Amino acid sequence: MAGWMAAAPAADALAEEQTTSAGTVPIFDTHAHPGRGRHANLSRTASQGLNRMDHHGIVYTIFLPPPFPSEPRERYGARELASVVNEHPDRLAFAAGGESINVLIMSTPPASVTASALKQLAEDADAIARSGAKAIGEIAIEHLSSGRGRHPYESVPADHPLLFALVDAAARLDLPVDVHMEAVPADMPLPRAMGPANPPVLPGNITAFERLLDHNREARIIWAHAGWDNTLERTVPLMRTLLGRHPNLYMSIKVQPQGPQRNSPFAPDGSIKAGWLALLREFPDRFIIGTDQFYDDEDDDRLAAARRFIDGLPPDLAASVAHENARRLYRLAIRISIQAPR
Ligand SMILES: [Zn+2]
Repeated sequence: MAGWMAAAPAADALAEEQTTSAGTVPIFDTHAHPGRGRHANLSRTASQGLNRMDHHGIVYTIFLPPPFPSEPRERYGARELASVVNEHPDRLAFAAGGESINVLIMSTPPASVTASALKQLAEDADAIARSGAKAIGEIAIEHLSSGRGRHPYESVPADHPLLFALVDAAARLDLPVDVHMEAVPADMPLPRAMGPANPPVLPGNITAFERLLDHNREARIIWAHAGWDNTLERTVPLMRTLLGRHPNLYMSIKVQPQGPQRNSPFAPDGSIKAGWLALLREFPDRFIIGTDQFYDDEDDDRLAAARRFIDGLPPDLAASVAHENARRLYRLAIRISIQAPR
């Protein structure tokens, strides 16, 4: 593995990265979690995470809180993550809002949105921006419970008035929003047994999601977890249609070897599916990497899969998806220099 260095944030913002033909394309991981709850030692998992990042050629990681439904005991967010990443500003950053804005949205029915809830949301968003966060997330729209532990089911209409207010705030603050939403084109039965917290019927969400995207086209909305879906509805044709209609829509790619594979970018032989390659060619500036690695898991399978995915792309696409798009989308003033392989 080549030696990796991400120089401290440069004053001149988006400096050109150096590349070497022999080197591996460096990855910016825009979506990873230091732990499942506050009980995890966030600081230790983050600093141990640097070695794991190195191993997979990941030069920069944005940590974010999962979309907590409530449970204040376990929540962590801007405060905890700021202290973790501030020790390694050249390698780590954070997003926040899963611990605050997500809770507010989950606990407010769409018909009960008051002026004080809207004010609270705007204040939370302002606080996130002041904290130094690079994005707002992780925000749930349709989040299935895995059935493990107390992993929650969360669901709100994608055109919830507080989500409209959120994207307005994000546009005003120039921060992307990281959204978790199983694709449900129309009401459908729960596709497979996934745990008792999930309802028997999942509500359709794509039409309402398009209203959210159209509500404020200045807001950059990242639909997380492309390549991994539990409804088997997040197909290449669906993603192509939405990307074509909504210039403010971006997608972060998650590859989970143990997950449902139908819409994974990998063919059974490990190559990248032709349909996925065509989609990336059509929208080369709209995809980024978001591994969804939990650093309190010992298994690095999601990091390793992201590495294999980038290594399977043609070089120009690999650089765009691995780091160039993320750097632009998150306004990251990080310069990458790549040392020759040892
Ligand atoms: Zn997620």
